[in-house]
Order: sequence, then C-alpha cells, then structure tokens
Amino acid sequence: MPPRCRFCGSPLSHTFVDLGMSPLCESFLSADQLDRVESFYPLTVRVCDACFLVQLSEYVRPDEIFTDYAYFSSFSTSWLDHARRYTDMIAERLRLGPESRVVEIASNDGYLLQYFVKKGIPAFGVEPASNVASAAEERGVPTWIGFFGAESAEELARTRGRADLMIGNNVLAQVPDVNDFVEGYRILLKPSGVATLEFPHVLRLMEGNQFDTIYHEHFSYFSFLTAEAIFAKHGLRLFDVEELPTHGGSLRIYACQRDNVGSPDTHRVAAMRALEQKSGLDRIDRYSSFPEQVHRVKRDLLKFLIAAREAGKAVAGYGAPGKGNTLLNYCGIRTDLISYTVDRNPHKHGMFLPGTHIPIFPPERIRQTRPDYVFILPWNLKDEIMEQLAYIREWGGRFLVPIPEVREYA
Ligand SMILES: [Zn+2]
Repeated sequence: MPPRCRFCGSPLSHTFVDLGMSPLCESFLSADQLDRVESFYPLTVRVCDACFLVQLSEYVRPDEIFTDYAYFSSFSTSWLDHARRYTDMIAERLRLGPESRVVEIASNDGYLLQYFVKKGIPAFGVEPASNVASAAEERGVPTWIGFFGAESAEELARTRGRADLMIGNNVLAQVPDVNDFVEGYRILLKPSGVATLEFPHVLRLMEGNQFDTIYHEHFSYFSFLTAEAIFAKHGLRLFDVEELPTHGGSLRIYACQRDNVGSPDTHRVAAMRALEQKSGLDRIDRYSSFPEQVHRVKRDLLKFLIAAREAGKAVAGYGAPGKGNTLLNYCGIRTDLISYTVDRNPHKHGMFLPGTHIPIFPPERIRQTRPDYVFILPWNLKDEIMEQLAYIREWGGRFLVPIPEVREYA
C-alpha cells in the first residue's frame, strides 16, 4: 500500500527526490557515543499529484526529535535582526498594544517574543522542547511547554484567551498532522485576529537546488497554492503574502478567519498564485526534473573535495546546521575530506556530526589551523559568515559554498 498524503489523503505514487538513508540531523554525538549503533532513516520525499504537497513520511515521531532540541535560535545574529524587524513591522501594521495578545507557536528560546515583551505587548510562547523553553523563560518570555494542535488550542483559548496575533516561523513544515495544526490556528485566533507563518518556499527549494533543507524534522514543503488550500479547508483565508530571503527563500503568509472583512486580499495574493502557476507548481511533471539537479551537486562537490585533497589542501567546515548533515551524509563526506567543522553554539563544541562523525570545535579553531578552504554549510548565511571570517584571506584562505551550485569565493 502506498503511503497517503498528510493533507488530502490521496495515495502518494510520485517520488520527488530520494536522498538515501540519513541519521536525524540534530542528533549530535558525544565522544563516547561514536562506537555505538546509530539509527538511520530514509529521506525519500514524495509529491502528491492531487494537492502538490511535497512531503516526507513520518519515519520518526516528533517527540523523539523536538523534546530535547539542540537548536537555539538566538545564536544567529541575522535571525535576531529578522525577528526584531518583523516585530516593529507587525506591531505597527496591526496597532498592537498593552491590550493585545500575541502567541508564537514553536517559540524556541524566546528569540522573537522578547521584542514584543520589551514593547509592553503581552505575549506567550508554545514550545515542545523544555530545554529551549527554559531559556525563553529566563528572557522573560512566558512559555507553555507542549505540542500545538486543535486540543492544545482549545485549552489555551480557555485558559489564556484567544489571540490578536499568532506567529509560526519555520514550524508548519515540522508538523506531521498539518490538518490538526492549522485547525489549532482557527481555534486560537480571534475573529479579528491575524496569523503570520513563515516557511521555506518549495518554488525556491526547486529553483535554488536546496535539497539539503530536506531532513526528517521537515515533514512538508509548501507552495503558496498548497498552503492556501490547506488553510481554506480549516476556515482560514490567506489575504497577504510576502517573499523573504530567509532560509534561501521563504514565504510569509498572512491568514485570517474566512469572513474577516477587516482583512481584504492584497494584490500580492493573486500575483503569487499567478507566479506559481506560471512556474508549473500545479502540474506533476514540473516536480519530476528535480533529482538530476541534486545528483549534479553531489558529483561536483565530491570532485572539488577530492581534487583539493589530492593537491594537499586542508578543508574545514563552518557551521553544524541540519542542512549540513543532510548534504554530508547524502554525499558520503567524512573526516577524510573535511577534517573538522566549527560552530558558534557552545552546546555543540566537543560533539560530532551525526552519521559522518566530523568533530565540532569553537570558531577560533579556524584561526589556529589556517585551512586553505572554509566550506560554508549554512549557505543561506554565507554573506554574514564570509564577513565574520574575512581574516582567512590573511593566509590566502578561500570559501566554498555548495548550493545552488558548488562555487569558490576568494
Ligand atoms: Zn495531497
């Protein structure tokens, strides 16, 4: 029996891309775990030919992934800037004040809600990982620990009241039951309320060859058209949409209750529908050309790293993001090709990347060992990282970026 679409229930018979077997991308290993068995799960992505939702089966349950999470949003400077600018924009646009109520789903360590709290706008977060939730509480951001869906939305509406603004950044992709999740938004949003959600745009994933953003934590990959159909089924209307540069190209959708006359559709909604139709996102054959692009990056990257090694050059990684782990495992790159990587998050120091067992050091390691190439794994932050690491030019160091195509930067 073929698996079924998590939104519309149709059988899934089309493969979008098969990245082989991979460990969970956030399951970093300590030194004493290196000689134990690791769990690998398939990264086989399918696309539904009825609603065009690109999706990964639920190979791993969310409570195995998200309850002790190593990802702390506040370690990225550019992501904090993004959060602060969003807060200024939306507080002004919706005229939020001390009487308003803001809820963020998957509020992580309070990286965003802290800016609402500073403005005196009441806000609380919903976050399943208790370790990051306590970091949020320390920042003064009240946080309810648990997974979000229709049931928790009922409880939150009863105990804390419904919301004027609901936020969901990079969480829609991470819910296995997308219907239950979006139904929770309908329940917790006031009749006049607005919800904004940001998620990577599947159009940019395909055009930008961003296959490394596929991992077990990301169950779904959305177009605007598919997101619109999902929200509509739950009585919510998408009345505005913006394109953002984050994560290689994201959408920020604005949703309201279907009959909220205070939020008429903007011209951007029609323009986005037209763009996606023109790009073929409503036709199954558009999705079938993706694997060849992915195979080419693998060949080019291996060619580059092997040639560098043959020439006696040292390559160090920068960053330990989820996308790096997909890329390195899919390409079979281990310490024979990259001796180590570095990360600003001290929780990762002394640990090893899952599957590939590449060690993670503090960023100072780069200055100490002076590698010929720094291989930037979080390519979406490459400008920020090349600026921070400008000093590698002192010894003729160069940067290597894998996506959308393998490229060197002096
Ligand atoms: Zn479907």
